[in-house]
Amino acid sequence: MNYDFIIYGSGISGKITTIALAEEGFHVCLIFDKNIDLAKQNSNLVTFLSAGSIDYLSTLLTKHQHLFKYTEIKEIKCQLNSHTGNKRQSISFDENDDQSLGRIVNNVKLEELLDEELKKGKNIDIKENCEISSIENISNGINLNLDDGQRLTSRLFILSSLQNKKILSSINIKFIKKDLSQTALSITVKGNLKNKNRAFQYFTSDGPLAILPYLDDVASIVWSIKNSSKILKLSESEIKKEIISRIKEIIDSPEIINLERHHLKFHFAKKLTYKNVVLLGNIAHNIHPIAGQGLNLNIKDIAKFTRLVREFKSIGYEVNSQQILDKFDIERKIDNTFYSFGTLTLEGILTSKNKLINIAARGGLKLLQRSSNLKKLFIKSATGKSFFNSF
Ligand SMILES: Cc1cc2nc3c(=O)[nH]c(=O)nc-3n(C[C@H](O)[C@H](O)[C@H](O)COP(=O)(O)OP(=O)(O)OC[C@H]3O[C@@H](n4cnc5c(N)ncnc54)[C@H](O)[C@@H]3O)c2cc1C
Repeated sequence: MNYDFIIYGSGISGKITTIALAEEGFHVCLIFDKNIDLAKQNSNLVTFLSAGSIDYLSTLLTKHQHLFKYTEIKEIKCQLNSHTGNKRQSISFDENDDQSLGRIVNNVKLEELLDEELKKGKNIDIKENCEISSIENISNGINLNLDDGQRLTSRLFILSSLQNKKILSSINIKFIKKDLSQTALSITVKGNLKNKNRAFQYFTSDGPLAILPYLDDVASIVWSIKNSSKILKLSESEIKKEIISRIKEIIDSPEIINLERHHLKFHFAKKLTYKNVVLLGNIAHNIHPIAGQGLNLNIKDIAKFTRLVREFKSIGYEVNSQQILDKFDIERKIDNTFYSFGTLTLEGILTSKNKLINIAARGGLKLLQRSSNLKKLFIKSATGKSFFNSF
């Protein structure tokens, strides 16, 4: 079979990419990677989807109204404790005109909506229960052999999974990798949320703890904890008690529904393309969840790539022309580098146990709190407005 694009990886990014390219009229094949229990992986995770990402997904999903059932976030408040006994330093990010910064959406629900859209199948072939056994870059595309004997060809191959080591070793792209030696606890909590439209982030010396309201009386807590922290050595019931003591200012009568652990790794591809292969999704950049930007960054890559392909195709270029690939790589570099390495540095500074760094960080937050212009810049970037408005 011959396609415009073959996409490998059944994560959220692989699915969004498939739908976006099929929507443009391209013939797309999505190959599911196997052996990963995705349902388990995403069981209680939620994602802060920026206002820009929500608008973009709304253009792709027929049932996009389901996204709007999740609570609108109008303010993000961050609080840094003092190591020297001074008052805590807080900073609030909100839009003066009460506009939405985004919504916190349940990952399982998002996958459900994507799966429904994929099933409609316009221009989409899905291959499940097979594995890629070999891949060959040819002059104007790619040849793929599957382990069930099928042979597929496409102009471009989009890699959105780390699952197949054979493919990874065949592409000449260098990665910067770092084990963050941190575990993210993701916890679902029921209770009386004092402010349903405000997301909260405490920078504790064990790691950042985010409180993310997503339904009227439900919030998700994401606490990224250093593996060396005593918290992780506590029993499950002691950890729950510790969490409750830290969130009760924000949620009345909290009741913990479930708790999961996610090992955090950092991963950054130095290039997004190699010959007829493009990286999209976490495979391109897997970042610290501190700023809630991982999937938002992936969505910006997907939107930019789809747009470039559409524009160049309309003036007669092939979808795998070098002009598209180079432009895509260059135009996404600054944003991806800023968020990937910026969040890493920010996390280190804001959770440092060093008193001097803590004083400097508190001073920095104080200055930022006073500078409405700088805050507006941050908001425009984190909500995706600066990116999607330029479309
Ligand atoms: C605790 C936590 C909170 C987060 N909060 C936010 C947020 O608020 N906002 C936001 O924008 N983003 C957030 N993210 C990031 C977001 O969840 C990811 O960016 C998104 O789920 C990635 O989807 P993906 O399809 O690109 O990659 P993946 O989910 O990694 O899936 C890609 C493919 O890779 C395969 N795969 C996955 N893991 C492995 C592995 N270890 N080995 C081999 N193959 C594998 C899967 O089978 C899948 O098909 C958060 C992440 C975590 C861990």
